[in-house]
Amino acid sequence: MMQDNDRQAFPTLVEKFGHKLVSRTSAMGPCPICDKGHRTANSKLSISPTGRLLFICFACWAKLPELIEAGFLGRGETKIRFNPPTKAERELAEALAESHLQQGAERRRRLWDSAYAIPPDSPAWRYWAGRDIDPNLLIASGARTRLDVWHGESRQNLPATIFQVQGCERDLCQLHTIYHTIQGGRPEVTPRKRMSGPVKGGGSALVNTPDSDVLSVSEGVENGFSVRMMDPTVGKVIATLAAPNMASFKINFAAQIKTVRIYGDIGEAGERAATMLGQRCEDAGYSTKIFLPPKGVGDWNDMLLKGHG
Ligand SMILES: [Zn+2]
Repeated sequence: MMQDNDRQAFPTLVEKFGHKLVSRTSAMGPCPICDKGHRTANSKLSISPTGRLLFICFACWAKLPELIEAGFLGRGETKIRFNPPTKAERELAEALAESHLQQGAERRRRLWDSAYAIPPDSPAWRYWAGRDIDPNLLIASGARTRLDVWHGESRQNLPATIFQVQGCERDLCQLHTIYHTIQGGRPEVTPRKRMSGPVKGGGSALVNTPDSDVLSVSEGVENGFSVRMMDPTVGKVIATLAAPNMASFKINFAAQIKTVRIYGDIGEAGERAATMLGQRCEDAGYSTKIFLPPKGVGDWNDMLLKGHG
């Protein structure tokens, strides 16, 4: 009797998540945490070889505890003893997940290869200039643009600035995209920025200063360029792109780096991520300092726009 219930539990969970079964013990579908549009099959719900419930999102790397915390799964649901998969089912699930990853990487490689350096007076140029950020910094960073980057959620092409994300656990041509309007403004779409591919541990290099012993880390690229505009001594600048990724940012810095400055975002998630990275940098022997925007200022770009505060 109990076993019959267990056998029923998995398909029920799969349905609840909007996933699709790819084997008796594995399902792919949209991630309830990061894929609010519920379009991409970027997460996998499966049963481990020992019958434990597993969840992994290949976009935001959320796992079971994050799902429980976000309220998508009750604690009881993870305690059900599922029938473990056979070896063949396990191999099929792994092959599907890998093929999904490779297809995404191919798609991103085509986008990156077809993009080009930001031309003067293009939408991307106007976007950065409009945020008081010198577009030449963007060009020097290696960022690229296109006038027509597909925005699936709003079913349209939009101009965008595209950054490579490097230093991730695997090289799958991970990208960070910021959409613009033709006039160089912020489009009324959700999301306005996106990370594509498994970006855990990685970041986008914004400013490269081979000789400086200072490394500055920000969460967003706009903030990273903004601190460089306000202070040319910030050295090498890297954006980790999101709070969880700042917390887990891989400490693998060039040999000459001695000082790490962390430019955090205001708010619980941002400040906690900055503290966590700061602690890890300090433990690794770097002289570390955390900076937060002064009270009354939203973020580092607001401070730049207001004239250095
Ligand atoms: Zn996710």
